[in-house]
Amino acid sequence: AVPLVVARSMALSAKNGLLIKNRTAFENARKITTLVFDKTGTLTVGKFEVVRIGAMQKEYTDNDVLQLAAALEQGSEHPIATGIMQKVKELNIQPVKAENIQALIGKGISGTVNQKQVQVVSPGYMKEKLGNSFSAIDIRAGETLVYVLVNNMPAGFIALADQIRPESYEAIKTLHQHHIKTALLTGDNAKVAESVSKELGIDQYIAEVLPHQKLEKVRELQEQGEFVAMTGDGVNDAPALAQADIGIAVGSGSDVAAETAGIVLVNSNPKDIVNLILFGRATYRKMV
Ligand code: ADP
Ligand code: MG
Repeated sequence: AVPLVVARSMALSAKNGLLIKNRTAFENARKITTLVFDKTGTLTVGKFEVVRIGAMQKEYTDNDVLQLAAALEQGSEHPIATGIMQKVKELNIQPVKAENIQALIGKGISGTVNQKQVQVVSPGYMKEKLGNSFSAIDIRAGETLVYVLVNNMPAGFIALADQIRPESYEAIKTLHQHHIKTALLTGDNAKVAESVSKELGIDQYIAEVLPHQKLEKVRELQEQGEFVAMTGDGVNDAPALAQADIGIAVGSGSDVAAETAGIVLVNSNPKDIVNLILFGRATYRKMV
């Protein structure tokens, strides 16, 4: 049987935007020493807006760059895709058809448009693929930047910006007051990871990580003796959520993340995690 205090706390949690799928996760919440956050959609609103577009070859205009990206992104649910499609709609650009569309998990998306190979990819992917032969666009603070490639040549770039959730400031502050360390783990570029971390006062950030590296980073923290909770919303976060001592899925995210996690943040609000820890502490203090 579930002890009454636990049942009460779980009901209280439900009222506070927490869906507890696994009671052990709730029971363990009081042991968390490090909270690892994904960025998009948890600490930030998760709505990207296009802030800058640039053509990198004479034969392309800014609108061509957007149109090519849209051809691939029109079927994608990635927040970057949503941001690009919004801009395309605003500018009345007609998306063209693409075939063989494939997600490059943690790196971008690829497909065929008018018999040309088109890719929309991260700066990290460009570095890995082209090395120093490629002169990168300077990323401005707070920007998420993707390159649009045609037959492996950069045709242009699109910069997008997301907003920090107002609730994130207090969530981080309260966690620190309770001596819980914080980290940001993101597939996005280091510049944006740095600016979000600095703004919120997060202890450390790790950027440009692929899904398996997210898992490794969680494991590393555990090997250092940390009891790790991790938030995530995407398919790419699922392995790390499973590795963490407590996996917390963000409500608006993918089903895969929600299935893997022990707890779901129904309102995607990082402040609810603070409540989770405090409820957990209060509940089990009463029992021992
Ligand atoms: P996060 O850790 O923020 O969830 P992802 O693993 O989803 O990051 O993506 C990492 C990076 O890969 C993005 O910042 C972007 O550069 C690139 N990327 C992933 N999916 C897409 C997409 N559909 N379109 C463009 N770029 C993408
Ligand atoms: Mg994500």
